[in-house]
Amino acid sequence: NHCLNPRPIIAEFSGRALRHNAQRAMAQLPLGGQMLAVIKADAYGHGLIEVAQCLATHVHGFAILELAAARRLREQGFKQPILMLEGFFDPSELPALSQLGLSTVIHRDDQIDALAQASLDQPLDVFLKLNTGMNRLGFPLSKAISAFERLRALPQVRSVTVMTHFADADNARGTAWQLKRLDDAWPAIATQRLSFANSAALLSGPAKRELLGDITRPGIMLYGASPWGAGDSAKTAGALDLQPVMTLKSQIIGVQQLAAGERVGYGGSFVAERPMTVGVVACGYADGYPRHAGNQAPILVNGIRTQVIGRVSMDMLCCDLSAIPEASIGTPVTLWGRGLPADEVAEAAGTIAYELFCALTARVPRVWI
Ligand code: PLP
Repeated sequence: NHCLNPRPIIAEFSGRALRHNAQRAMAQLPLGGQMLAVIKADAYGHGLIEVAQCLATHVHGFAILELAAARRLREQGFKQPILMLEGFFDPSELPALSQLGLSTVIHRDDQIDALAQASLDQPLDVFLKLNTGMNRLGFPLSKAISAFERLRALPQVRSVTVMTHFADADNARGTAWQLKRLDDAWPAIATQRLSFANSAALLSGPAKRELLGDITRPGIMLYGASPWGAGDSAKTAGALDLQPVMTLKSQIIGVQQLAAGERVGYGGSFVAERPMTVGVVACGYADGYPRHAGNQAPILVNGIRTQVIGRVSMDMLCCDLSAIPEASIGTPVTLWGRGLPADEVAEAAGTIAYELFCALTARVPRVWI
């Protein structure tokens, strides 16, 4: 739609890469294991319906956060299991959860009270969320079994899956300490249906249900970024055989010849040490490019790796064209994606690829290829 969006920026999404990554995740499952693709936050910025369509026949179901998004999935005809990752925020949501056939996390006592008082069209599949050390949502382990028994006795509940979330699956602490707490508090836990693994746990393996659970919940790996970011060369997205789904592309829209001592951008935070050529790219923080990437992030110009220089502006950023003499107006630029892992750009900006993906703004045109 070039006439409506003449500004040369676009986010390209690869359905092939998405399916490849989903198959990669499925291959990590324990025998009989299932996988709910995490598609909260507009599928980590990739587009809810497009991602759900692409994955529908490749995964067992979806995990999401926003009730409106779950409703949209049902309206679009998706009949798979859908888990509400943070459950319901208000008891008034319960009839909708039931009508839409959504599974829900239960993480507080008052939610069990609300369930007990609700009159529902059909009983709910619930995921009892336990706090095993993340200290975010979930019942304390001392109350795990009593909460489980209470839920199981309710006519409003069809099934109870025991769920916990890992805090350190992507670092040296790992997941064993949380699983040990769970085992200690609930020795017969293995007799229950379990839901544990995120991407990092799934990719770490081994594929055992005691470690990953029966129902896994990978997110970031589906989108082709590494839970470990770019720091560990053995665990980059490439090394893990993950393919980038989102490629953010733009073009050179201005070229400046600088004399030594000239400065670039707001505040002149970059100073040319020698005469050099600077390219101006049609992408800024209002597109979702991280402002903190200024003066450090890698960028591809005509497929050649160079660096962002100066501060990132709202609608533009600058890069060093010294080693790319052929670059001129219209030369293609890749901000991240194919050829340049989002994890590397994120690291340069002091953040994670999750945040880059979610931050892509509405004004960037999207295309699935
Ligand atoms: N499960 C829960 C409860 C989550 O909150 C998330 C994401 O934040 C995930 C699974 C997916 O995690 P990841 O994207 O690291 O695989």
